Amino acid sequence: MILTLKAHAADKDIKLVVNKIKELGFQAHISKGAVKTVIGVVGEKASTTRAIFETLAAVEAVTPISKPYKLCSREFKKENSVVKIDNKVSIGGKKITVIAGPCSVESRERMIDVAKRVKNSGAGCLRGGAFKPRTSPYSFQGLGEEGLKYLAEAKKITGLPIVTEIMSPNLLELIGSYADVLQIGARNMQNYDLLKEVGSFNKPVLLKRGFSATVEELLMSAEYIMSKGNYNVILCERGIRTYETSTRFTLDLNAVPVIKHLSHLPVIVDPSHGVGVRAYIPSMCLAAIAAGADGLIVEVHSKPQEALCDGSQSLLPEQFIKMMKELKGVSAAVGRSL
Ligand code: PEP
Ligand code: MN
Repeated sequence: MILTLKAHAADKDIKLVVNKIKELGFQAHISKGAVKTVIGVVGEKASTTRAIFETLAAVEAVTPISKPYKLCSREFKKENSVVKIDNKVSIGGKKITVIAGPCSVESRERMIDVAKRVKNSGAGCLRGGAFKPRTSPYSFQGLGEEGLKYLAEAKKITGLPIVTEIMSPNLLELIGSYADVLQIGARNMQNYDLLKEVGSFNKPVLLKRGFSATVEELLMSAEYIMSKGNYNVILCERGIRTYETSTRFTLDLNAVPVIKHLSHLPVIVDPSHGVGVRAYIPSMCLAAIAAGADGLIVEVHSKPQEALCDGSQSLLPEQFIKMMKELKGVSAAVGRSL
């Protein structure tokens, strides 16, 4: 339920509203808009208390939110949310942000080399997994903390903020001390304990769609994070399972306009995992931005034939440079900048 406050409501009256919400056992989520302040009243059966709020002096209108997700819905917030990363990069505004780097951190030299290359080609953030969610327990699982240190070094040299995956709540303090964005992978989209933990942590979260998850389930997972107070959530379409086998997954670009309609959160697209075949990835990068995505996350590797993970879907640096040039034109065509 949304409480829209009167334009010039006094602070003490706003406080009364917030206290009332808490007294009734609900959470108050305040969103200060350009014109009006709205408060989301969230909790089980919050809508049954509508009449109580209608009598409060500062409240102009009480509107139920029809969707099961509340804080991430467009009904709660009309304007697009912009997520700031490391006080340098914004995702969700006019500018398109490209996050690029290898699938996993493999060595110090390689990490720094790729970081320099993607920085020079116009990437805004650096990706690289130090803790990897591999389908097989016998595959390379990531370098762990050593990998985080290489990412930190690469950041120091290039200035690129770090996006890296977290799989377990136990590692939040460690990964959170290196990462500028905490990535929740497709396989953990519904790891609710993890979602609640990152929701209580003060770093932006990149939430990837599970490959068997609906858009509504993705938004419910974002709601878990936001319900704990962390509103800096970036959603990511990364491909879903279909009967098609010519690509690794089927990149569901439908999801971009659908999510934009349903939610105010920024949306980025991961064509690397969604397509899984190097040759087809640049086209889908361009298509994602044309469809209205706020950014991309792309795997790039200088020697993909030697990669320990996802080499066959990693763009070569030359391919990345070419794609970024083409992306400039597409971005401009849809009123965005790169
Ligand atoms: C990744 O980004 O390296 C990754 C494992 O992606 P996903 O969780 O989408 O499979
Ligand atoms: Mn990968």
